[in-house]
Amino acid sequence: MTHGSARVARQQVTLREQREVLMAVAVAECCGRDPVAWLSSHVFMCPNGHAYFVGECGCPTQAGSCYECGAQVGGSGHLLGAGNSLARELVARVQAEAGVR
Ligand SMILES: [Zn+2]
Repeated sequence: MTHGSARVARQQVTLREQREVLMAVAVAECCGRDPVAWLSSHVFMCPNGHAYFVGECGCPTQAGSCYECGAQVGGSGHLLGAGNSLARELVARVQAEAGVR
């Protein structure tokens, strides 16, 4: 019982937590520009759907490993690795919520 409810609660707050993390990083990284706009060009998804950030220009110049699943993320020569993409849906949800305030 305790295990089950803890897991359900965790899933229910994940999106909210994710949004708070995204916004915190965006505010820190956007150098005084619009953090929501920053998100739309700097947040990507690993092949398994985990969000990660690409700093500086937003171009993937370095390959790395997803901290959630270890899949290859980023890329080289400003090209994304296979299976990686911009996290458009996630950013759209964050933008929608940010627009409400
Ligand atoms: Zn992953």
